[in-house]
Amino acid sequence: EGAINRIAAGEVVERPASAVKELVENAIDAGAHRIAIDIADGGKTLIRVTDDGCGIAPGDLALALLRHATSKIDGSDLLNIHTFGFRGEALPSLGAVGRLSLTSRAAGHEAAEIAVTGGRTDPVKPAALRSGTVAELRDLFFATPARLKFMRSDRAEMQAISDTVKRLAMAEPGVGFTLRDVSGGGEGRITFRADSENGDLFDALHARLARILGREFAENALKIDATRDGIRLFGYAALPTYSRGAAVAQYLFVNGRPVRDKMLTGALRAAYFDFLSRDRHPAAALFIDCDPTLVDVNVHPAKSEVRFRDPGIARGLIVSALRAGLAEAGH
Ligand code: ADP
Ligand code: MG
Repeated sequence: EGAINRIAAGEVVERPASAVKELVENAIDAGAHRIAIDIADGGKTLIRVTDDGCGIAPGDLALALLRHATSKIDGSDLLNIHTFGFRGEALPSLGAVGRLSLTSRAAGHEAAEIAVTGGRTDPVKPAALRSGTVAELRDLFFATPARLKFMRSDRAEMQAISDTVKRLAMAEPGVGFTLRDVSGGGEGRITFRADSENGDLFDALHARLARILGREFAENALKIDATRDGIRLFGYAALPTYSRGAAVAQYLFVNGRPVRDKMLTGALRAAYFDFLSRDRHPAAALFIDCDPTLVDVNVHPAKSEVRFRDPGIARGLIVSALRAGLAEAGH
C-alpha cells in the first residue's frame, strides 16, 4: 500500500503547485468562503491550506487518507463528476511523499487531527479548532530524494503556486483567497489577495478578473455569453487592442476546472485571426459549462487536459461567440 501510494503520488504530485491545487480544490469542494494558503520555501518545507468549509468529522478523518476513498462520488457516478475532486487520490498521495496533517472540525463534532508521514498514519487525536479544516503538508518529497532534485528554485516554485492559486480564484469569485509567503516564520508576507466578490455571475467575475489580470484587462474586456447544443461559453475576452506578446493571459475553464488545452487555445486564436498579427495573443478568461458526460476532464490526475466527445462543437462555439462579440464591438 505504501509503495502503491508513492507511485500514484508521482502522478498526482509533480511539484508544490500541484499539492496546492489539490488542497485548495478540496477546500472549495468543502464549500469554503475563505481560503488561506501559507507557503514556506517555495512550498518545499511547508504548504498550509486553511478553510472555513464543512470540516471532517473525527470518525471520517482516517477515511479521508485512504486511497480511493472519496465522499464526492459513488460507483454509479463516475461519468457524472460535478466537483473537482475525483478518485480520492490526492490526500493519500500527499501523505506518501511528505508529512501531512489534517486538523478539522465538522458541525456537531469535536475538533480532531490526523497525521501521515511517508505513508504511515498516526491515530486520530483531539485538537483545538473552531471550525473548518487546516491541511498542512511539510517536507514535500522528503521520502523521495530523486524527486527533490527536480524542484526548481523557491522563487520559481512560488511563482507556479501563485499562478495555480490565481487560476482557481478566477473560477471562484465568491470565495476569498489569501496567499502568504511565511518563509522564515512569523506573519509572513501576503503575495496575493482577493476578497470575496459580490453580485451576479458577471459582476463578480469582472471584479475578480480586474483584481487578478489588472484593470486594463477588465476595461478592455468583452462580455461573452453564448449557448449552443447544450454547451455554454461565458466570461471575458479582451479587445484586439489589448493583446499580449505571449500567450500568458489565456485562462480556460471547463465545468469550473482550470484546463490547458491546445484545441481550446487554437479556437481562441482562430477567433482573433483577422485582428491580430502573428506575434500577438488574445487575452481571455473563458468558462465552458456543459453536461459532464460530454467531456472528460479526468484524462490524467495531475494534467489539466480535457477531451470533448465532440470537439467541433466547443471549437465552433468559441469561434462564433468571440467573432460575434468582436463584431458587436466594431471589429
Ligand atoms: P477527493 O477530493 O477526490 O474526494 P481527496 O484525497 O482529495 O479525494 O480527499 C479525500 C476526502 O477527504 C474528500 O472526499 C473529503 O471527504 C475529505 N476532505 C479533504 N479535504 C477536505 C476539506 N478541506 N474539507 C472537508 N473535507 C475534506
Ligand atoms: Mg481532492
